Amino acid sequence: MTHIPGIVVTGASGRMGQMLIKTITDSDQARLVGAVERTGHDWIGQDVGTAMGGQPLGVTVTDDPLEAFAQAQAVIDFTAPEATLEFAALAAQARCVHVIGTTGMSDEQIAALEPAARHAVIVRAGNMSLGVNLLVQLTKKVAAALDEDFDIEVIEAHHHHKVDAPSGTALMLGEAAAEGRGVNLAEVADRGRDGITGARQRGHIGFHAIRGGDIVGEHDVLFAAPGERIVLRHVATDRAIFARGALKAALWGQGKAPGQYDMVDVLGL
Ligand code: NAD
Repeated sequence: MTHIPGIVVTGASGRMGQMLIKTITDSDQARLVGAVERTGHDWIGQDVGTAMGGQPLGVTVTDDPLEAFAQAQAVIDFTAPEATLEFAALAAQARCVHVIGTTGMSDEQIAALEPAARHAVIVRAGNMSLGVNLLVQLTKKVAAALDEDFDIEVIEAHHHHKVDAPSGTALMLGEAAAEGRGVNLAEVADRGRDGITGARQRGHIGFHAIRGGDIVGEHDVLFAAPGERIVLRHVATDRAIFARGALKAALWGQGKAPGQYDMVDVLGL
């Protein structure tokens, strides 16, 4: 028996799935013990390393998540909301730490994770990078320190495939600013401006989305007052930052009490 945790990656063929497999196999703190894809996917039955175009890794891609989870200590899951809900129940059954990077979950879907969290550790975050989670904390602090003379605007940029705006991360930053200021984001959010909008409303928080090329993800939080401005900025240049954060969460969750956690807990921010 080894003390190095065994990890299953779901959505193994996806952009994040492949990045996670590389990150885990490059790490000496974790072992890849399973790779899951949806039924009917042409990677099923193939060695995951070979399917990725590299050397065999000794792990066969399966569409039987429970069988894979039974051999693991953690599941890292960047797939889709319905799949993530199914994996949460199975990971709890196998007593695996479930790291959820999947975004776009509805409030009902998030609430439906609760029964699983009574039996296992769930770590869920819309952004797994150290830098963005630190930026969220900084945004809250700066917003709490400044009054409404400082107009807050969140500006984000992403690749041209992105289908939603503002990004989940931009909304996390807006929530942090609103929390720091002690206001409800829903009441003060201005999402994009176009046409004769009238003067900017004092106390509002603006959101702006840029889309183009292969931009991985950039976020600025601007605090602008007469005579000065502060800009907090995060620039992601490589998806590996999300995979590294997810692996850190999987290792952190070992031995923790069942419940729901986020990256702020993992990073001790
Ligand atoms: P992708 O489309 O490249 O990959 C998703 C994979 O999940 C696909 O391979 C798909 O076949 C697989 N999948 C779907 N349903 C499945 C099922 N039932 N069983 C097994 N596999 C299934 O997408 P991506 O770019 O890798 O992103 C995946 C998710 O992660 C998205 O929700 C994205 O927004 C999110 N994401 C989160 C972070 C973060 O830091 N939290 C960072 C990047 C992406």
